[in-house]
Amino acid sequence: MTEKHQKRENDAPSVNSNHTVIHENILIIGAGPCGLAAAIALQEQGFEPLVIDKGNVVHTLSRYPTHQTFFSSAEKLEIGGLPFTIEQRKPNRSQALAYYREVAKRKKIRIQPYVEVLSIVPTATTESGSMPKINDVTDLGTSKESEEQKIEQGKMGEKEKIGQQIATSSSAKPLFQVHGHSQDKQDVYYTANYVILATGYYDNPNLMCIPGEELNKVFHYFHEAHPFYDQHVTVIGGKNSAVDAALELEKVGAHVTVLYRGETYSSSVKPWILPEFDALVRHGKVAMEFGAEVIEIKEKELSYKINGEVKTIANDFVFAMTGYHPDHAFLHKLGVGTDSETGRPHFAEETMETNVPNVFIAGVIAAGNNANEIFIENGRFHGELIAKEIANREGM
Ligand SMILES: Cc1cc2nc3c(=O)[nH]c(=O)nc-3n(C[C@H](O)[C@H](O)[C@H](O)COP(=O)(O)OP(=O)(O)OC[C@H]3O[C@@H](n4cnc5c(N)ncnc54)[C@H](O)[C@@H]3O)c2cc1C
Repeated sequence: MTEKHQKRENDAPSVNSNHTVIHENILIIGAGPCGLAAAIALQEQGFEPLVIDKGNVVHTLSRYPTHQTFFSSAEKLEIGGLPFTIEQRKPNRSQALAYYREVAKRKKIRIQPYVEVLSIVPTATTESGSMPKINDVTDLGTSKESEEQKIEQGKMGEKEKIGQQIATSSSAKPLFQVHGHSQDKQDVYYTANYVILATGYYDNPNLMCIPGEELNKVFHYFHEAHPFYDQHVTVIGGKNSAVDAALELEKVGAHVTVLYRGETYSSSVKPWILPEFDALVRHGKVAMEFGAEVIEIKEKELSYKINGEVKTIANDFVFAMTGYHPDHAFLHKLGVGTDSETGRPHFAEETMETNVPNVFIAGVIAAGNNANEIFIENGRFHGELIAKEIANREGM
């Protein structure tokens, strides 16, 4: 039985099938811009956090539309004080991917890619500080034999953890057990004193909850327009993602209808794309309906209500660009509350610590019902608050 350690600066733990328990002082879940910024801020305070992501670095950005241009200028996306220098003011997706890869490399951020975190469980530490038993975690469903193996490994982790607690002081008792799956669905276990959740919002599209939304022809993510040449495509939504998708689709020869609940263009639409889109609408190249509520999607058609009247149009594909929201499920399971009015998790704005001690949040996961209140431009600063607080607590 072996206990894996990460003694060297950039030596991410290997994931194996032996249910190894890896102890970390600080775990960051999510290698998005805000998780990475938090890692750098912590490194600057002398810590060596491990960042875990179910994809690779800036996984969310890699899932953007292929030809996406950011609405932010490059310097507003910078993290860790590394300049983001490009010729244009606003970067495109591939420039941003290159920038964040370079940041991860230069800052030697310890990243464990392709591990999806499935549960985080607070553990009761004993007086002696011994590791909690892994089989206290209720939702893992593993065999008795492997449980015993894990318990044993857990004890080993406690004995040996001093060596890897580079920046930990007296409170070196593990507080959280984190269970994840590697890409081949092997169990991976971590323990950590501090957990920082930076899981973003992009996995959770806002659903319309209408009949037909579950059809394979309905997408909540837009990548490229080419497959939709000469197809009847309905884009639902009236903000940037909808307008961007409609522009690309029209360009490749799709027959595009945009349906939007609002009565006029959203004020958040980037001013430099609106004239082009509006011109297409005025010239009849894109059909645009305001005040339209989609009521049903079928294999070959789509129905919506407008001014009390139901209209049905031919439809091959739907892009429901209705936005995304952070999934607060992990936080709730950990005991983090939510404000009933704003939908924001309970946390202290000056430290980003939630109402559960040692659980912090960074980035758009801190947003409530209005997910657009936090983005890279402002979420990148959360890590500094977290790092300062943990450093204070650890006497750094
Ligand atoms: C098309 C588009 C354009 C945008 N343009 C801009 C812009 O110009 N400027 C701007 O400031 N913002 C922009 N945004 C918003 C921006 O993408 C988000 O605000 C930003 O990604 C938030 O960063 P984050 O680090 O909080 O989360 P994310 O970037 O979403 O990172 C979260 C990470 O957590 C990982 N993760 C999630 N769950 C788990 C799990 N269970 N286990 C392990 N890993 C997990 C994900 O794989 C992901 O890598 C845009 C968004 C979109 C969709």
